[in-house]
Amino acid sequence: MPEWKTSPVIGMFAVVVMIACIVVAVILLQPKKTPTLLMCEKCNTQFEMELARNVQFPIACPKCQAKTAFPAKKVQCLKCGWTGVIIERAVELKPLTPDEQAKLTDEQRLARQKGAEGVVCPKCGSGEIKTILGEGK
Ligand SMILES: [Zn+2]
Ligand SMILES: [Zn+2]
Repeated sequence: MPEWKTSPVIGMFAVVVMIACIVVAVILLQPKKTPTLLMCEKCNTQFEMELARNVQFPIACPKCQAKTAFPAKKVQCLKCGWTGVIIERAVELKPLTPDEQAKLTDEQRLARQKGAEGVVCPKCGSGEIKTILGEGK
């Protein structure tokens, strides 16, 4: 029965099939790159970049070289009409210590809550914001 193990033809065939499988797997597993709108938190530069889906933020800013670029989206404030590009706050928000949290004013706390859900208008602080353009446009 174990004749196939010694047959060089079948053995070669098995190796070829294995290599083909690996090649296909590598192609399928390659992360798709999608153009993403980004904004640098430090210098406010907006730029578009082809990013792999599994990229870790923040990434390096092409202008100031600092690792402070986050995904951004073009938004319009439904309250005051402001339009612009805004960093997706949910990514940017850092967890606060209970001490820091206690120092927040109600307004700041509300802004953080809104921020955690999505984005707030930098002009009037309203959370009623409509995305015009952004990721997955
Ligand atoms: Zn920058
Ligand atoms: Zn506004």
